Amino acid sequence: MDDQTKPALSLKTLAAQPPGAHEFITGAVTQPIHMSATYLRDPDNRYPAGHVYGRSDNVSVQQGEALIAALEGADEALLFGSGMAAASSVFLALDRPTHIIASQVMYWGFRSWLREIDRYGHSVSFVETSDLDAVRAAVRPGSTGLFWIETPSNPLWTISDIAAIAEIGHAAGAVVCVDSTVATPVFTRPLSLGADIVMHSATKYLNGHSDIVAGALATASDGPLWSRICKMRDQLGNALSAFDAWLLIRGMRTLDVRVRNQARTAAVIASRLVGHPAIAQVLYPGLPEHPGHETALRQMKGGFGGLFSIRIAKGEKAAIAVAAAVSLWKRATSFGGIESLIEHRASIEGADSPCPADLLRFSVGLEDVDELDADLMRALAVAAR
Ligand code: PLP
Repeated sequence: MDDQTKPALSLKTLAAQPPGAHEFITGAVTQPIHMSATYLRDPDNRYPAGHVYGRSDNVSVQQGEALIAALEGADEALLFGSGMAAASSVFLALDRPTHIIASQVMYWGFRSWLREIDRYGHSVSFVETSDLDAVRAAVRPGSTGLFWIETPSNPLWTISDIAAIAEIGHAAGAVVCVDSTVATPVFTRPLSLGADIVMHSATKYLNGHSDIVAGALATASDGPLWSRICKMRDQLGNALSAFDAWLLIRGMRTLDVRVRNQARTAAVIASRLVGHPAIAQVLYPGLPEHPGHETALRQMKGGFGGLFSIRIAKGEKAAIAVAAAVSLWKRATSFGGIESLIEHRASIEGADSPCPADLLRFSVGLEDVDELDADLMRALAVAAR
């Protein structure tokens, strides 16, 4: 069969058997790590395999990029040394001056970088992007050139309608980017909904084992912005390392089974927490009472993710006491790994954050659902009475 007649493979199969998964010189079923910083010329002064220099030309990194492009249904993907490096590259490659519309609720570290975007000659409007009227009202005809939406958004899990925002963005002549770190390609493929670029902190679910920091961009098509991003990464040298790319590929091979399991556990625990006397609110897009539930049902296929938050009725001090009282849930930042984490977000996000002071964020790992639930219930009974 040639490529034209091959049936499209599911994400599960693509991840289990990524492009170039096997190595035919030795017959190894896993890929070697290509560590070389440079490549040999042949006697004719050419590079026989087309590879020149390792700063942005590394086979292990390219294998990871090919897999991410396949999972996102993208034309091309790029790997970076962190999610922040991937995200900021989009903005640094923009023509100046560009007006940007960005989600009000998003990963706090990126929001605080964006708040200083005027240093690069751009301006930003932070908008509640779950409200389409607010998105439309924020457009500045002729100057809005980029929409940056995070959905579900960290740590309130608000849901923005990717297809509707892509329509608004494209009518304004803008590029539409989605930080899809939380959804993962298992549940949402933003490019198929009309987005132009999808971004991941691959530190999280894509890798899934809390042992690398990595970032990815994937594009629906090549174009002037994408070409500048590629060129800048080559010039600045902020690509992922070969070793980390190899670990990322290994992590992605189990992506489907991990995130489906994590989402199932999160849905069970979140629904058991609803109505708990110590809790003022449970935030999880899979709950029918979540304001973004209807959009999430349309946009997220097969699950609502492995993260939820709760607001402790007695306030901030009680919330911190709950985080200190659990034992199975580990008290650390980040998410998407196989171990479950709990975090009092306001402690890390700072004063300008839209995150309420009484909020605890939970990243569900792969432990037993009832054991995780019992640990949290015990902590709530002791610390949040
Ligand atoms: N986007 C989201 C949604 C995140 O949660 C994070 C980090 O927590 C980032 C981007 C930044 O990624 P990294 O920490 O890999 O630089």
